[in-house]
Amino acid sequence: MNRIRVSRRVEKKLAKGLVLLEASDLTDIELTDQAVEVLSQDGKFLGSAYLSQQNKGIGWFISKEKVRFNQAFFEILFRKAKEARKPYYQDDLTTAFRLFNQEGDGFGGLTVDLYGDYAVFSWYNSFVYQIRKLIINAFKEVFPEVLGAYEKIRFKGLDYESAYVYGEEAPDYFTVLENGVLYQVFMDDGLMTGIFLDQHEVRGSLVDGLAMGKSLLNMFSYTAAFSVAAAMGGASETTSVDLAKRSRELSEAHFQANGLSTDNHRFIVMDVFEYFKYAKRKGLTYDVIVLDPPSFARNKKQTFSVAKDYHKLISQSLGILNQGGIIIASTNAANVSRQKFTEQIDKGFAGRRYQILNQYGLPADFAYNKKDESSNYLKVISMKVSK
Ligand code: SAH
Repeated sequence: MNRIRVSRRVEKKLAKGLVLLEASDLTDIELTDQAVEVLSQDGKFLGSAYLSQQNKGIGWFISKEKVRFNQAFFEILFRKAKEARKPYYQDDLTTAFRLFNQEGDGFGGLTVDLYGDYAVFSWYNSFVYQIRKLIINAFKEVFPEVLGAYEKIRFKGLDYESAYVYGEEAPDYFTVLENGVLYQVFMDDGLMTGIFLDQHEVRGSLVDGLAMGKSLLNMFSYTAAFSVAAAMGGASETTSVDLAKRSRELSEAHFQANGLSTDNHRFIVMDVFEYFKYAKRKGLTYDVIVLDPPSFARNKKQTFSVAKDYHKLISQSLGILNQGGIIIASTNAANVSRQKFTEQIDKGFAGRRYQILNQYGLPADFAYNKKDESSNYLKVISMKVSK
């Protein structure tokens, strides 16, 4: 196995528990996919890692021990990960959750999600992709009850992004349960699956009645999962806004799955900033507004980034929020810290007062690296606006 020597700075970073290797950490190394032993400047063994270009970072530090990335190694990691998800397995009302989450479960660059009887592997770089057979074999040993699996390619360079992997083929569309609510999912159509599993606690708060008897506006709604959760939790009406045409039928499917009439639930294909203007013009107002934009988006007219523009979503929302209303502000932007996110929110409030009802990060199944705040990328704050 190749050995790499790292600077004192990188040695300190690793000692602190930061495990994502960045281009600036390894300057004089030719980047080819490989497992490596990491040594300090004076040749002391620091641990095992691998190198491979990702969207973010160029590799992962894996262990302070000497480890081989073979099937036995992954079986141990998968057993531990499965054990840690016992509460999810014991919950009959939830059948979809994350089984393995990157460095939080001991191996950055890989996630595995469970959707009922099926698993979805995501490969974040070509190194994990190359060793996927042994990873899958280890997975089958530990999760024999999983009937079939799919994969998502989350790095550049291959000519496909989604594929069937093994076992029984999943139906094109089927439903999973979360907090007792049914959601329609699909395993093999692009990178997305119909639901973002990291939001289960936020949807849970809606199912539990946060929007009971209230009207809810769901911005950047995708398949309207927040709206369905709210409707199941007694919301009187919901409006879901998304630019993507396909979002409408996928949203309606979630409602139908739960036997909900869509009479009081609207699905609007529109740019959210257009919708803010439209609602203002028509005098439409809401009791609860959910804001969950992509980290970065570009359309014909403008670009939107959470880091710079989130405040606009807040100020626009305040213009159509009923007295004493609630804003649920969410972002999954890893480059925006909770502190920075709060600053954007405060900028949007521009001195108006609010009370924080709840704050969420990643749920327990999305195990993250406790020593690296940026790995807990999800930030959700629910706020009640003062009169
Ligand atoms: N809140 C969703 C996930 C949102 S994903 C959920 O919980 O499932 C981001 C969504 O934003 C995508 O569906 C995309 O189509 C939509 N989107 C991006 N830019 C938009 C814009 N300017 N106006 C409306 N929707 C937009």
